[in-house]
Amino acid sequence: MTAQTSLNFKTIRSASPKSLAERDAILANPGFGKYFTDHMVSIDWSVEKGWYDAQVKPYGPLLLDPAASVLHYAQEIFEGLKAYRHADGSIWTFRPQANGLRMQRSAHRLALPELPVDTFVESLKQLVSVDAAWVPSAPDTSLYLRPFMIANESFLGVRSAQQAAYYVIASPVGAYFSKGVAPVSIWLSSDYTRAAKGGTGAAKCGGNYAASLLPQQEAYANDCPQVLFLDPIEGKYLEELGGMNVFLVKKDGTLLTPDLSGSILEGVTRASLIQLAKDRGHRVEERKISIDEWIDGFASGDIVEAFACGTAAVVAPIACLKGRNFVAGDPNAPAGKVTMSLRQELTDIQNGRLPDRHGWMVRLA
Ligand SMILES: *Cc1c(COP(=O)(O)O)cnc(C)c1O
Repeated sequence: MTAQTSLNFKTIRSASPKSLAERDAILANPGFGKYFTDHMVSIDWSVEKGWYDAQVKPYGPLLLDPAASVLHYAQEIFEGLKAYRHADGSIWTFRPQANGLRMQRSAHRLALPELPVDTFVESLKQLVSVDAAWVPSAPDTSLYLRPFMIANESFLGVRSAQQAAYYVIASPVGAYFSKGVAPVSIWLSSDYTRAAKGGTGAAKCGGNYAASLLPQQEAYANDCPQVLFLDPIEGKYLEELGGMNVFLVKKDGTLLTPDLSGSILEGVTRASLIQLAKDRGHRVEERKISIDEWIDGFASGDIVEAFACGTAAVVAPIACLKGRNFVAGDPNAPAGKVTMSLRQELTDIQNGRLPDRHGWMVRLA
């Protein structure tokens, strides 16, 4: 590792923060990703200067040249993690180094500069200490942190940008799905895949999401809040949902989840649940899982639970899988026991209600 000069953050406080009453009204009913705190982080980068000008500044619009490469060639990556208020008022986040490392891998794939992991973690601390009052304390609420990076050089030629910027914005949030943790139905996309072999599926980039929105619309039209994608080559094996990884639970307690094929996003929640399940003595198989194995398993009773996971929704029980000509499972099925108890354990660790035996929590403020 090369030595990194640490950046000094300059803080410019907002002259017009939300009033206490406005903030309280938002925190009482935050929804998901609708409201933003008073401040944001920005750090600039250029080939000549490297990372420079780290700031916490008032939240507000970006000034972008219309020729900025992100607007034309989608050179963009992002991260998502949460800040949790513990009972003693302190504020913590979950495995931020894992997100920082993943952002470096995403940056590499999208030919963007790699932000040092310690600067990534420091940027979260800087923002959360200024906007600490925005971290809600009600059950199942948190402050969602959204770091992202864009290429902002004004140049229409096609090559990786020589100028970029990193930002962090923050949004107080409640449950991701409007119905809370009620089991969801999942739509199986038969016409579209999420990512190609050798493509950007393992990178957390906006372009993957852009490609998932049309199938997502199809899912909504079929009363499903999320869409499941199959592998891009044979159209046979589970990959993941638009923005979440997927698990199945067998009758004998074995957990199944697709292995990291190169086109799947390596979720921090996925990795953490695998660890917690193994700690409890569950067998966990990371391997290819065909769509027939799921459908037949639901029918025979060999597969008894399914769930999706990711930072935003944590763990979302899946009641049934719907496709163009079939429904597998019961849309009204209750949430699975293993699903809900893993969810409980993970959220208890994140919220400081259980000991952090793996050293996952990092204090932000
Ligand atoms: C972010 C993301 C996930 C979940 O990752 P976590 O680190 O658990 O939040 C899964 N799939 C996709 C496509 C994602 O973008």
